[in-house]
Amino acid sequence: MDATALKQWIAAAGRFALPARCLVCGDPGPAGRELCHGCRASLVVNDIGCARCAIPLPSPVAACGTCQRRPPPWSALWVPFVYTSPLDGLEARFKFAGSLAAGRVLSTCWGESGEPVAVPELLVPVPLHTRRLRERGYNQALELAKPLARRFGVRLAHDLLRRVRATEAQTDLDATLRRRNVRGAFAVQRMPPATHVAVVDDVMTTGSTLAECTRVLLAAGVKRVDVWALARTPRPGG
Ligand SMILES: [Zn+2]
Ligand SMILES: [Zn+2]
Repeated sequence: MDATALKQWIAAAGRFALPARCLVCGDPGPAGRELCHGCRASLVVNDIGCARCAIPLPSPVAACGTCQRRPPPWSALWVPFVYTSPLDGLEARFKFAGSLAAGRVLSTCWGESGEPVAVPELLVPVPLHTRRLRERGYNQALELAKPLARRFGVRLAHDLLRRVRATEAQTDLDATLRRRNVRGAFAVQRMPPATHVAVVDDVMTTGSTLAECTRVLLAAGVKRVDVWALARTPRPGG
């Protein structure tokens, strides 16, 4: 058993042995849930912003300046939360500390947050490069997508898209460099078995990864691509 599998096994065993505690504040969770009511209520809902890219703004707009200059390739998008405290802490535990429990909490909150404008035929999580997948032990986008697929009765295609090129971490890149960094990074593995799909990711920053996945799917013959992401980063300094 490797270190990741062992950590996951211990976490799974712990869930049965111990009462659920809130992963944010440590208080007992209601009915076995790992997020208390107070911390659940403090997740920031992303309901005011650009209708095209979901960037949080002081008042809603049909298309922000960025989207007017460069319209995103997707049809609709669903990004229910703002990437800020306490969600960012849960996401960090999920993505970088091997906490699948934090992933379950985030996915549950996402599923309960509302509904997408349209339910697609297929969910396609943004793939990780094989090397990153091996390091982390799981793809965070796929783990978030699984409960959503069950909730909305939608098929899930975890292997339709493949990351054919390892990309630099996007964290320190601006929007232009991010677009360049992901260009040609994804490929479809086979004929997409649906005409309406939604690409699923955890955090949407500039949207360059989601836009690239959307373009690849459209080029492969998908008629409509929507984008679902858990949370949107606010504009720097905004
Ligand atoms: Zn709490
Ligand atoms: Zn926009």
